[in-house]
Amino acid sequence: MLLFLFLDGVGLGANDAAANPFVTAEIPTLMGLLGGQRPLAGTPAGDYGRAVFVPTDACLGVGGPPQSATGQAAILTGRNVPLEIGGHWGPKPNAAVAEILRAGTIFSRLAERGARAALLNAYPQRYFDAIGSGRRSYSAVPLAVTAAGLPLFTGSDLRAGRALSADFTGAGWPEPGPDGALTPQAAGRRLGALAGQYDFSFFEYWLTDYMGHRGDLDEARQLLARFDAVLAGLLATWDDTAGLIVITSDHGNLEALDHRHHTLNRVPTLVIGARRHAFAVGLSDLTHLASRVEREALGSAGP
Ligand SMILES: [Zn+2]
Repeated sequence: MLLFLFLDGVGLGANDAAANPFVTAEIPTLMGLLGGQRPLAGTPAGDYGRAVFVPTDACLGVGGPPQSATGQAAILTGRNVPLEIGGHWGPKPNAAVAEILRAGTIFSRLAERGARAALLNAYPQRYFDAIGSGRRSYSAVPLAVTAAGLPLFTGSDLRAGRALSADFTGAGWPEPGPDGALTPQAAGRRLGALAGQYDFSFFEYWLTDYMGHRGDLDEARQLLARFDAVLAGLLATWDDTAGLIVITSDHGNLEALDHRHHTLNRVPTLVIGARRHAFAVGLSDLTHLASRVEREALGSAGP
């Protein structure tokens, strides 16, 4: 069983309190996974007791800053998508990226083999309306999910506790209900409980990239503190022998608020759980994740 906690736009940046919110944010849970260190460019790779930390290349040998569509597609397919299409591309997939995603992802390959796979994000009705009318197109993750024949969760799923809102707690959910937001810790516990119902579950946290483009250091620090509390709730109830949590990102952004663009920085991959070593062996760039995720998820799915 594997929970993939995907953070959009989070890299490993400089030890610069004026530019990098990770230098001063209240992130005790994250630091606890790193032996008391902050996730920065100089933080050494290694096993810190509960988690393996692997600074991970998101540039994939292609010039220019990495972008969301190609980076997420590389994560979801295991292919060097920016190299295949001739450059980094985003935020939304173009025709070439969409074709690659439709040809097979973690979601479709696991679903075809009978594994239980789900994207745990809930989407509000206005999202489905915008997709249906053509005003909006899928980003890489929901495109991969729908192409695999899997459902996107709705407001009813959120209210029934089968999914989580994009901000984890529901505080920013744009429709009436759910009945009050969860605390970040409760949202983390729910994330863990939902993950336990699947062989492979994925949560997409895109507010980190959004915040990187906004460029407000104080807001970014607050966002990281809320995320850390979600992580605390998740880890407090997570059984390390039952499965892995993999946290990673598609490209840097949030860690360099002296500008509002993506960065060339490596991204933090954290692998939590008893089988973390087997997962992390040989892992160095974003194309290395998909095969490991599938292997781990199928391991718990039986023959
Ligand atoms: Zn971005």
